[in-house]
Order: sequence, then structure tokens, then C-alpha cells
Amino acid sequence: MRTTVEGVQVDTRHWIDGRRVESVSTFTDVSPIDEQPLAEIAAGGTAEVDAAVTAAQEAFPRWAALDVAERSAILRRVADEIEARVEDLARVETRDNGSLLRSHRRGVMPRSAMNFRFFADYAEKLAHPDGEIRGHRERVTYDPAGVTAIITPWNAPLMLATWRIGPALAAGNTVVAKPPEWAPLTASLLADITTEAGLPPGVFNVVQGTGAQAGAPLTAHPGIRRLSFTGSVPTAGVIARAAAPNIVPLSFELGGKSPLVVFADADFDLAVSLAVEQFDNSGQVCLGAFRILVEDAIADRFLEAVLERAGTIVQGDPRDEATDISCLISRPHFEKVDGFVQRAKQDGARAVLGGSPNDELGHLYYRPTILVDARPGSEILTEEVFGPVLTVQTFADEDQAVRMANNTRFGLATTLVTGDRDRAERVSMRISAGTIWVNCFFVRDLGAPFGGNGRSGIGREGGTFSFDFYCDVKNTVFAPNGWTG
Ligand code: NAD
Repeated sequence: MRTTVEGVQVDTRHWIDGRRVESVSTFTDVSPIDEQPLAEIAAGGTAEVDAAVTAAQEAFPRWAALDVAERSAILRRVADEIEARVEDLARVETRDNGSLLRSHRRGVMPRSAMNFRFFADYAEKLAHPDGEIRGHRERVTYDPAGVTAIITPWNAPLMLATWRIGPALAAGNTVVAKPPEWAPLTASLLADITTEAGLPPGVFNVVQGTGAQAGAPLTAHPGIRRLSFTGSVPTAGVIARAAAPNIVPLSFELGGKSPLVVFADADFDLAVSLAVEQFDNSGQVCLGAFRILVEDAIADRFLEAVLERAGTIVQGDPRDEATDISCLISRPHFEKVDGFVQRAKQDGARAVLGGSPNDELGHLYYRPTILVDARPGSEILTEEVFGPVLTVQTFADEDQAVRMANNTRFGLATTLVTGDRDRAERVSMRISAGTIWVNCFFVRDLGAPFGGNGRSGIGREGGTFSFDFYCDVKNTVFAPNGWTG
């Protein structure tokens, strides 16, 4: 089961205990660019999950006991190898998930390397100063927790997986990863990369397969000690139930319905650019601000400018440098996105841009869409679409803006655009979201906490927050007296 994708050799079997493992069954990976079959992928189930968890359990004591400097040195070599193979990874990922090649080359793959380098460095610096309580000394230590299950989605497959694999391994855990079935290829390349970097067998394992067949037994496995899941809310509910009997700590990074709040005092051009930027990756971005809220006083002029700018978006093959947005990931997802748009229109919303598939390009290309006049409370304003679909609503004043921004069961991110520093301070304090951007978007240090409120998730990752999650944090209290040696 080896295949060549965009000139790159990919082995699509599982990766368990440092070896490629065949599966009795396979599934077909389809490229969203042209809906052509790309590769046959091993379809794992309970047997492969058991084997991977056992391998990770056996590798754990040695990996956990390694000096942190030795572990970090290996992980920095993983980062080096990713950097050396950015072009291969970018080409394969683009063919597999349809995201832009130029984004993969310049942003996503270098960030995947950074996910290892940053946490390798962080693990070496991680220290908690001893405390003192009534003459006793208190020491806090971070012990590796054990086998970590990592389940991730397709919208940025390697970046989202490495953003959890990096800290889990840096903390001294071993990993079983279940990549997304709609874009499974770069996980296979990562297995090669970790081996070349000298990661011992069993420390990192990949079980390919569908959520129901490979993901479900992994989440229910009594051998896992941490579970990091990135994906949709319904799947998170299923996973939480599966993991509950084993009392496994969970980190959930889920969806969003984030707002972009534009005040009349905003830098107008910046606000327009930030609105149009939400079409990136065809809107398949968890953090995307798809609910545009704009102050009445500038609403007409703003919408006009957004429409003009959005009219210049080039849609096409993601491998072309000139392309700004490409296709959606799969036929079921394409139909889901179109379903949202058609129901919104039947419910009274008006498409002032797009509102339908791109018939010229065919396949899975959906036109950038802007909807106005959506009915308050309707699903297009409340449910995550995960496609190139923005809604525009207006507000009269700051209080109403805050109410509308917070009127969601999600709480992943909010973007504010205002020229008034005091207002920015005030409003950001009143917004419920894991991340708030003021006059910017998508800027974040890997040391900062990342996660969402409400239905957007459970917990935070990033910097210390990752180590808090991937470790058993221990407090040891030493009495001041009673020493005999
Ligand atoms: P999904 O929930 O359908 O699938 C995500 C992963 O879970 C896949 O690997 C899938 O195979 C697996 N899975 C499915 N059913 C499972 C089960 N019963 N047991 C175990 N694993 C199972 O989500 P998706 O459609 O792949 O991804 C899109 C979603 O991900 C969106 O909601 C998006 O907002 C979210 N997302 C969130 C973040 C974040 O950091 N907050 C980042 C990217 C994407």
C-alpha cells in the first residue's frame, strides 16, 4: 500500500511500534480538487487500536524516563525534518484536503515544525518555583501522564495534529494518533519523519481509519491516559461518553460561530480586509469570524466595500499561485454547506454574493457567499456552517453589539475592529470567547492559551496549559524537620 501523490511516495498502512502494519480492509481517499481517487488507505479497527495502544504503553516507561534534554533534542530533529520536507508535505496536503499550496508552503507546514520545536524548548524551560507553607517546602512537578490519544480533523490535518503531538511527546507521553479519513496522508509522512529523526519505536503510532471504526475504539480504550480531540460538537459528545468510564482527562477544541464586530470608528479598510479574509480556506476554519456585525452608521458603505473586495477573490485549483480560495473537502460536506445556504434563503435571507455552487468550476467549488436579512435566531446565525458563508447584521450601539456577539452557544473567538482604545478594553472584557483579536486576526503565540468556551470546547492548550493537560501535575510537601540524613 504505497502510492505516489504529487511525486511524493506515501505509505498508507498503519504505523505501529515502529513498523508499517497492513489492514484487512481499506478505504478510498478522494482528492477534493477533482473528486478523483487518490489512494487506498488502511482502515483500522479494534485490533489495530489495541496493538497501537499496547506499543505506546510498552514504549512509555523508557520515553518518560529519558532526560528532558534528550527528548527535546529528538523532537527538534522532527522539526528539522519537517522543515526539510515542507515542499513534499505541502504538495501532498494540498492534493489531499484542497487547501492552498501557497498557504501550506509558507504558513501551515512551517507552523507544523514549530509545534515540535516550540514545545521541545518549552519542556526544557518548564519550571515551577518551590513554594513555602508554614515552614514546609512545596514542590510542583510535571509527570508524563501515559498514552495519549490524538484525534484530529481534515481542515489543517498536519498542523492540527502536530499542535497536540508536539506537546504530548515533549511532556514524555507516548501517542496514538487517528488522522481524519478525509485527509489522512500527511500523518503517514509524519511517521517516516519521526523515524528519521530518531523517535524510538512505539512512542508515536498512527492508526488510520474512519471515526466509527478506528476512532471509537481508541476513545474507549482503557489504556489511554489523555485524549485530545479536535473536531465537531456532535462527535465530541460521542467521544465524551466513550471516554467517561475510564475517567480519561479530555481536551476538546471544537467549532465556533465567531463574530467580527465592526464599529463606526474602525479603520475602514482594515475592517473590510478582515471581513474578506474570512473566506480563506473556503471558510473551513474553526476560528473564522463568519458573523459580521457592523454598526448602523457605516453598514451600507461597509457592505458595498466588502462586496467590491470579495468580487476580486480568485477561486480555482489550490495548486495555482493566483488562487485565493478553492474547494470544499468532500461531497457530503459540500451538500451540508449548500443545505445551510438554501434553507437560509427559504427562511428569508438574501444572498448579496454567491449563494450557490460555482457551476463554472463544478465539483466541490462553492462560491463565496454573503447573506443579509437572516432571521434572528435562525440556524444560519446560530449553527457552524464551516464553508465560505458570511452573514451580515447591524447594531445600533455598543451594548447591542456585545449582546449580539455573545448571542451564541459557542465561544471560540471574537474579532473587534475599532479605533477607540477604551472601547476595545471595555468590549473585550464583556465578550465570552477563548481568544479576542482587536484590529487583527489569527495572531497568536504558541505559549498563549488556546481553546473555547461553551460548545467550542473543554480546556486550553498552548504553553503551560498544554503541559498542565498532558502531565500529571504533582505537589510534594516537605516538612522542615524530622530529617535523619
Ligand atoms: P468530526 O468531528 O466529524 O471529525 C473529527 C475527527 O473525529 C476525525 O478524525 C473523525 O474520524 C473522528 N471521529 C468521528 N467520529 C468519531 C467517533 N465516534 N469516535 C472517535 N473519533 C471520531 O469533525 P470534522 O468534520 O472532521 O472537522 C470539522 C470540525 O472541526 C468543525 O466543527 C471545526 O470547527 C472543528 N475544528 C476545531 C478546531 C479548534 O481548534 N477549535 C480546529 C479545526 C477544526
